[in-house]
Amino acid sequence: MARNTGSVCRMCRREGVKLFLKGEKCFTQKCPLTKRPTPPGQHGHARQRKMSEYGTQLREKQKARRAYGMLETQFHRTYLNALKMKGVSGENLLQLLERRLDNVVYRAGLASSRAQARQLVNHGHFLVNGQRVDIPSYSVKQGDVISVGSTSREIELFKVLREGSARILPKWLTVNYDELKATVDALPERGDVDFALQENMIIEYYSR
Ligand code: SF4
Repeated sequence: MARNTGSVCRMCRREGVKLFLKGEKCFTQKCPLTKRPTPPGQHGHARQRKMSEYGTQLREKQKARRAYGMLETQFHRTYLNALKMKGVSGENLLQLLERRLDNVVYRAGLASSRAQARQLVNHGHFLVNGQRVDIPSYSVKQGDVISVGSTSREIELFKVLREGSARILPKWLTVNYDELKATVDALPERGDVDFALQENMIIEYYSR
């Protein structure tokens, strides 16, 4: 399956929740979901009807997959890895999603969206514990330090970040914007996800 290249705001309207895919625009009144909170398409209003259990499970899975910008095969692999971990599978799944390097870069405020973070990681702008890592799905561990490479620090985006960022950070990360460096103080927990999600529905969807 190819990556979606259409309007990302349609995805939020389809899922009925802000997925924060457009960077700064998501935090302004220009967000289309604020103005028109109905499914996309000419008959969006008419399509609002009670959903079956399967439909609800599918929508929760799609919501998470779209928010983290993953293909179905990648997402399903993450689910299988969550099953192998000790503890509650749904919470394990959320933790694995939050621990992705592209997500950490975004949550640390070093990129304006997960899509931008993925591109920056792909282009080799980030180091983990001093080693260049260009794999967006790389899973960070407690104590890891994510920093911007020395040659990448002169990119305009990072220059602006060094001058000050007002991003609200999750409690499991500390960020030093002068040094363009984020530290993973703890592993993310269930409550650290930045959008509403019923992770148990995703587990049920794949367990069918
Ligand atoms: Fe578009 Fe962001 Fe609003 Fe979603 S949250 S509809 S991506 S502006």
